[in-house]
Amino acid sequence: MEQPTPPMPLADPLSDFFWSGAEQGRLLIQRCQACGTFIHLPRPVCRACRSFDLAPEEVSGRGVLYSFSETHKPFHPFFVDRMPYLLAVVELEEQRDLRVLSNLVGIAEPDVRIGMDVHVDFERLSPDLTIPVFRPAAGKAA
Ligand SMILES: [Zn+2]
Repeated sequence: MEQPTPPMPLADPLSDFFWSGAEQGRLLIQRCQACGTFIHLPRPVCRACRSFDLAPEEVSGRGVLYSFSETHKPFHPFFVDRMPYLLAVVELEEQRDLRVLSNLVGIAEPDVRIGMDVHVDFERLSPDLTIPVFRPAAGKAA
């Protein structure tokens, strides 16, 4: 049987920078140029000051695990062989409440701790798609 391909992000002018950044191994987050607030998911207007002057900016990729769940039911055939996997909400160090939904890799569920230090990594799912994932920070294992 032919290997299924991963579901692709919608071609969306607002979020294209996020995916093209991942292709380059960079975590890009939208930032308001007027007040400095980071915003994720991308949107056309700053939620803090209503400015339309928003631009992608590379962030450190460091953060803490805010929440997670272990997924056992694949929502797409591509993920069948990857079960179970960990869905994670990561709060990036740049700003309180700046949270990214991603995958947590390199750790098994019993070892996961809320608040643990994590850092971004990039996983190539197909020739056309690289996604940001997060790993436990080196040397900071609980
Ligand atoms: Zn703003």
